[in-house]
Amino acid sequence: MAEMFELKIIEPDGMFFEGQASFLEFTSVMGEMGVYANHIPLTTILAPGVMKIHNDGQVKKAAIMGGFIEIQKDRITVMAENAEWPDEIDVERAKAAKKRAEERLQKKDAGLDTARAEAALKRAMARISAAK
Ligand code: ATP
Repeated sequence: MAEMFELKIIEPDGMFFEGQASFLEFTSVMGEMGVYANHIPLTTILAPGVMKIHNDGQVKKAAIMGGFIEIQKDRITVMAENAEWPDEIDVERAKAAKKRAEERLQKKDAGLDTARAEAALKRAMARISAAK
């Protein structure tokens, strides 16, 4: 059996997930990462993306809308801006948000908040991908 670590995913309004995991996949601002137990300590910033919690062959997916991740040898703590399980995601709403953001980025109207549109696009893509 793979060595396990303790995982906590905390949202502003409380605990989203607390349990054991053997491997964790997530999107940091440095790119896609995968972490096993006994990783060197590391704290980094999360980008919107899909988090995959592995526990001996089982995988739970969640859309994480950004935040921080603190990796220690035997525990990982995620402080997420917002986290959603696949069954909480309204895919049609996410598709509409994606289309809106893409149209804004394409049109480039004066006064467009590019960073905001890009962030909305990433959130929508994280939701669509987690719900698949
Ligand atoms: P939208 O433009 O559709 O509101 P958004 O990315 O701007 O999307 P957020 O600001 O990230 O939305 O989220 C606002 C609230 O709406 C949060 O509570 C979030 O969980 C919820 N939410 C947003 N999109 C969805 C979705 N597709 N399915 C379920 N809940 C969603």
